Amino acid sequence: MKIDTRQIPDEGLTLTEEFSSAELDLDTEIIKFCGAIKAKAVISKSYDAIGVKLSLNAPMLMSCSRCLQELNTGFSRQIELHYAVDKLEPIIDLDPDIREEIILSYPINPLCSDACKGLCPRCGCNLNEGGCNCGST
Ligand SMILES: [Zn+2]
Ligand SMILES: [Zn+2]
Repeated sequence: MKIDTRQIPDEGLTLTEEFSSAELDLDTEIIKFCGAIKAKAVISKSYDAIGVKLSLNAPMLMSCSRCLQELNTGFSRQIELHYAVDKLEPIIDLDPDIREEIILSYPINPLCSDACKGLCPRCGCNLNEGGCNCGST
């Protein structure tokens, strides 16, 4: 998403855009987006600064860090960004900041539930679905 600071009227501007997780390289081993990321930006301008209130929404799958089960959690986040007006660089590219905000909001160890028993370390079966037969438990 790019903003041309020369084209923001005094009363502000609202922009919407959809982008894919691949465009911003957002997928990780445990986080996968399964649809477009919808961004809505409410942009305000003062004499020398640009404020952007950004709402992000996307369908997201997260893998439980213990049992690897995929959880359909969805992604929703509001962020605020601020930029200085630079007459020599009137175009502001929000993408690097959007990417950073999204990645910083990822949970480090997502769990399907606090009581998740995880996988058997020997045979790899899901211990939430009952005991396994390999004899380690
Ligand atoms: Zn789990
Ligand atoms: Zn086992």
